Amino acid sequence: MRHFSQLAVASDYWRRLLAARDPELADAGVEGGLVGARARVALTALVLAVPLTVLTEGPGQRENWVGLFAAAFTLLVSVAVLASVSRGWRPRWFGFATSLFDVTIVSCVLASFLLIGPPHMAVNSRTTFEIYFLALGATCLRYDQRICLIAGLAATAEYGAIVLFTVRRFDLNSEAFVPFPYGMFSWSGTIGRCILLLGMTVLSMTIVSRNERLRVLSTHDVLTSLYNRAYFIERLREELLRANRYSRPLAVAVIDLDHFKSVNDEWGHHAGDAVLREVAHLLRSDMRRTDIVARYGGEEFALIFPETTGTEARLKLDRVRQHLSEARFDIPGVSHEMSITFSGGVAAAPEDARGVDELIALADLRLMAAKKGGRDRVLGG
Ligand code: GH3
Ligand code: MG
Ligand code: MG
Repeated sequence: MRHFSQLAVASDYWRRLLAARDPELADAGVEGGLVGARARVALTALVLAVPLTVLTEGPGQRENWVGLFAAAFTLLVSVAVLASVSRGWRPRWFGFATSLFDVTIVSCVLASFLLIGPPHMAVNSRTTFEIYFLALGATCLRYDQRICLIAGLAATAEYGAIVLFTVRRFDLNSEAFVPFPYGMFSWSGTIGRCILLLGMTVLSMTIVSRNERLRVLSTHDVLTSLYNRAYFIERLREELLRANRYSRPLAVAVIDLDHFKSVNDEWGHHAGDAVLREVAHLLRSDMRRTDIVARYGGEEFALIFPETTGTEARLKLDRVRQHLSEARFDIPGVSHEMSITFSGGVAAAPEDARGVDELIALADLRLMAAKKGGRDRVLGG
């Protein structure tokens, strides 16, 4: 029985790990991607300076030419990635592709050492091998454990493949390689390096998972699991910017449960909390995935309806109000099914206002008018 529950926990972990992420985590990942793209350009420009300096001082070794070619190619791709990320072109697979690119370029440099010097340069390389750790550390900026995992496995597999190929092709510890300027080959050293790469992968995934948890805590309300007020304002600012720029409609609503104090007074705070959770669930399930639903305050909720006019938002909210008033909540500790109603105010851009504060203030005014007008209604739009 215990084994089954452990299996269930493990399978739940992998299901959550592989599932698509919340949009706000994806947003953080996009920001991280931009930071990563800038860092990649700066770093490859720095790396390019090394073979460039050596080659301008003299004819240089073949190793420097390989380094120059690899760094110039990486810089070119890094600039292209930065340009596309800055212009907003970032398909879902982009984070995976750029992280794989980072580790694969390290593997390519290691493999290219096989062409230019003793094969030990590839399997025992110090500085180049350590760039894997930079690449794996940078995957943390994506806020996506799947990217950390795939990049880490790719780095381990690619390095392992290089070692296997080299061991089959060369007798690495033969006297022909004396005095072993890059050290002798040993399986324990290689396995140790693979374990370090996997350790770094697990570390990156753990950092991301801790960050995800903090991100969820800072953007969500603990009681209802809806977005919190701070995140609502942040998203409204972004959505308004987009709507104003592309001349698209956008509506905002503020709703407040009617006579909620009496629920607490009659049945206690515990029952009041349960009702808030049920209402939040109903609101979320009645809305489109692209609509933002947040807990604005105690028993107040706020909503953003992108691509929606004020009238459409009011009609939609009226249907939700109807649905809520017809829903019967069966709350533990409450002796009869209760019915809940709300009052709401809607304001829309661009016809009512174009700024965050003005829109919310107007929706709030209309909410107060709805309360004064007798409650259980939505005004505006
Ligand atoms: P109105 O129709 O005018 O909005 O009446 P109301 O009773 O809903 O309004 P009022 O603002 O007087 O009371 C709001 C109540 O919501 C007060 C408080 O007890 C309750 N409340 C706010 N936050 C929470 C919460 O997190 N849990 C519970 N159980 N109750 C809450
Ligand atoms: Mg209130
Ligand atoms: Mg109320």
